[in-house]
Amino acid sequence: MSTYDVAVIGSGPGGYVAAIRCAQLGMKTAIIEKYSTKGGTCLNVGCIPSKALLDSSHHYEDAVKHFEEHGIELPGEVKLNLEKMMERKASVVEQTTKGIDFLMDKNKIDTFEGVGSFEDKTHIKIDLTDGDSKTIEAKHTIIATGSKPASLPFIDIDKERIITSTEALKLKKVPKHMLIIGGGVIGLELGQVYKRLGADVTVIEYMDRIIPTMDKAQSKELTKVMKKQKTKFAVSHKVTSVENTGDEVVVKATDKKDKEVEFKGDYCLVSVGRRPYTDGLNADKAGIKVNDKGQVEVNEHLQTAADNIYAIGDVVKGAMLAHKAEEEGVFVAETIAGQKPHIDYNLIPGVVYTWPEVASVGKTEEELKEAKVEYKSGQFPMRALGRSRASGDTDGFVKILSDKKTDEVLGVHMVGARVADLIAEAVVAMEYRASAEDIARMSHAHPTYAEAVKEAALAATDNRPLHT
Ligand code: FAD
Ligand code: NAD
Repeated sequence: MSTYDVAVIGSGPGGYVAAIRCAQLGMKTAIIEKYSTKGGTCLNVGCIPSKALLDSSHHYEDAVKHFEEHGIELPGEVKLNLEKMMERKASVVEQTTKGIDFLMDKNKIDTFEGVGSFEDKTHIKIDLTDGDSKTIEAKHTIIATGSKPASLPFIDIDKERIITSTEALKLKKVPKHMLIIGGGVIGLELGQVYKRLGADVTVIEYMDRIIPTMDKAQSKELTKVMKKQKTKFAVSHKVTSVENTGDEVVVKATDKKDKEVEFKGDYCLVSVGRRPYTDGLNADKAGIKVNDKGQVEVNEHLQTAADNIYAIGDVVKGAMLAHKAEEEGVFVAETIAGQKPHIDYNLIPGVVYTWPEVASVGKTEEELKEAKVEYKSGQFPMRALGRSRASGDTDGFVKILSDKKTDEVLGVHMVGARVADLIAEAVVAMEYRASAEDIARMSHAHPTYAEAVKEAALAATDNRPLHT
């Protein structure tokens, strides 16, 4: 029987990063993945394909709507070739997942293709894809089995017209009218893809605003911009039934006043969150506890009830984000190696890759109010930047919240072009416990979108932005 220092179950961003770090630290490592391609949700049906389609659809929209204003004239009408767009996306995914195979080889990590399940706390049975089965022994195991799309109890996801993100990433035609249940990250990103490609899009959200966990100012700004792009929103609507009637999907919901409202479309994307995935793992055989949300229960070291078994990423509590899973993968590898790693969960940024992008780190204004923290707020509009006018990306703002007494930055919230990249500056500043004045006194290249960060910091420090 093969024996390992560490076995990792699941090859998503949590699992494969954990495996690499274990190997770097000199541990004999194996990784088990049930699918033929590694990379998990993120690389196969999540972050990477969705960003490929967001980029392609953005180019299409620019060609249709914005080339002319830049003085670019095309010889004929711009045509969409959805099949080719999907092929490009598939090839981006293929290149990226192959990259993981390369990294496993490079780090001398043994890989098994099959479903891993516990026989006891040190033995894992692998039902190999080729039909065989094999048991390995592992001193430590890292569970990184991720998540699957969640649904509502009364919805039958038929994968034809009533779909999840997985199907929405490979539609063969552009919907006429896409109904989206859930105005969170997936609903807005994929909604924007199909809106740009010509679909009508209606987002039905249970809460009173879209992206309800982010700062309220961001919800407001993104709603405004997406409404300008002709996306329709029905917030404060509780969906009560979803039915595929053949050519149509009928969604019924009750609004704020308890009145029944009916929506009709040809596709309905259900994007109401994701659920942790532990099916077939036989966690109980190793003494591991799974809570009523389906999450593997872990302590502050991400250790399960079995002291040699850890769990990371979407299958445990916390934000379901690839970079959170990666941080936890490194954390657990270093913990097993006897080191004392640390993760500051407050500094894990959140990004929505719509255009304009939305990015956040730290506390929202609503959270500070609730915690009764005294704070200052400085906000700077993107439209006041020369860079934004040059590119035509004038929507959005940067908002910095800092402690009223010490000026320490407590939260940074952005909407605008390339803010997915700009948020890194805020993370660095907050990691080093910078004050708003520290950021305000640093030189930011001109003309860049990053100047909005400096200006918002000036506004937060003592209300003295230079360009508004
Ligand atoms: P996963 O990536 O889910 O990987 C788990 C792996 O374990 C899977 O490959 C699964 O097959 C395997 N597995 C499960 N059980 C077993 C078993 N018993 N034996 C063997 N293998 C098993 N996050 C971001 O940060 N940025 C984004 O832009 C972003 N975009 C997204 C877009 C979409 C459409 C979706 C759906 C998600 C997106 N996410 C994004 C979320 C991100 O994909 C997840 O947070 C991330 O993949 C979680 O990583 P993980 O390693 O915990 O699990
Ligand atoms: P989400 O939690 O972001 O959004 C779900 C939305 O559905 C919420 O706004 C919620 O209020 C709403 N909702 C819940 N029940 C509802 C109901 N009955 N009727 C109407 N609305 C309802 O989840 P998601 O968009 O499905 O994404 C799943 C996970 O994947 C998230 O945790 C997210 O972090 C991750 N993800 C991240 C990115 C990114 O980082 N850019 C992109 C896609 C997905």
